[in-house]
Amino acid sequence: MPEVKYLETMITAAQIDEKVTDLARQIDRDYAGKDTIFLGILKGSYVFMADLARKVHLDQLEMCFMMVSSYGDATTTSGNVNIKLDLENDLTGKHVLIVEDIVDSGNTLAYLKSYLANRQAASVKICTILNKPSRRKTQLEPDYCGFAIPDAFVVGYGLDYAQKYRQLPDVCILHFEGEEAGAEGGKRI
Ligand code: 5GP
Repeated sequence: MPEVKYLETMITAAQIDEKVTDLARQIDRDYAGKDTIFLGILKGSYVFMADLARKVHLDQLEMCFMMVSSYGDATTTSGNVNIKLDLENDLTGKHVLIVEDIVDSGNTLAYLKSYLANRQAASVKICTILNKPSRRKTQLEPDYCGFAIPDAFVVGYGLDYAQKYRQLPDVCILHFEGEEAGAEGGKRI
């Protein structure tokens, strides 16, 4: 695995908080009066899911989780998705909002959408805090998106590198030993 050199803040906790408030407002408006279920994709979405769920005002809101992993190397994914924790909730007639940390190739969500297709949900939409449109390999686009970001490997706000850095409140670019020098002001670790 490449050696980590330093972290560079890309999106601050304050910017994230403002964006999550904004997304919650849109979701409140679109899901008012509907039987709604947030489906968090573990592990990366746990921080966003907790923040978003506490900012919406949906009386009938249910929450559930799936854990998926896709095979690939340390910083990219392939199209092979493995379900590690499956749904227990009945989705029949429910409006499902998949809550994701980041949409990259779109392979994970394309797989999940087709996996959920025969669960009789009334609707299935996607809400992601981060989106890398330049990396997309599928037709899939999120219905709600926090920040479109360039092609960089990021950690924090739930996202990891080798299971570390998830707890960072900011979204940071991870720079590796041997790569071109990044922007000034990176935090050495
Ligand atoms: P996709 O299937 O869209 O290619 O990949 C989605 C998953 O890949 C995300 O849920 C996340 O786990 C991982 N991923 C994609 N880009 C990044 C990134 O920049 N940083 C981290 N930590 N994970 C990423």
